[in-house]
Amino acid sequence: MTIDLSLMRQRLEAKQAELQKNISGLTEAHPEPVGAIEASEGPQDTEEVAVDFLETQQEQSLLVNEQALLTEVQSALERIENGTYGKCIDCGQPIPEKRLEAIPWAARCVKDEERLEERNLSITETYDEELD
Ligand SMILES: [Zn+2]
Repeated sequence: MTIDLSLMRQRLEAKQAELQKNISGLTEAHPEPVGAIEASEGPQDTEEVAVDFLETQQEQSLLVNEQALLTEVQSALERIENGTYGKCIDCGQPIPEKRLEAIPWAARCVKDEERLEERNLSITETYDEELD
């Protein structure tokens, strides 16, 4: 196991900064569809309102996703501080380096992550086991 912790920290901090920027962008630039110009053009057509509504919904769910990811990134940074980085938070087994390189904030080994996802997606009945 030769994880470069300082490199990982850099990547996590960069991701953290990026997410914080996105989140503040999403929070501040909240769409106000009825501007002065639009209002003077008479009644808004309902289709446009629906699209605006949909966009707001999408931005909201994006915001939720970004915030969840930010929490994961911050927990990973904490694990670097605590010296527990790179270990599965469920079983304590080392997380494969390849996985951490792809997802530096990964908190679980593949097996436990899949188990968690399976639990979350309980609707999914068929589960294809992928073997490397
Ligand atoms: Zn595990």
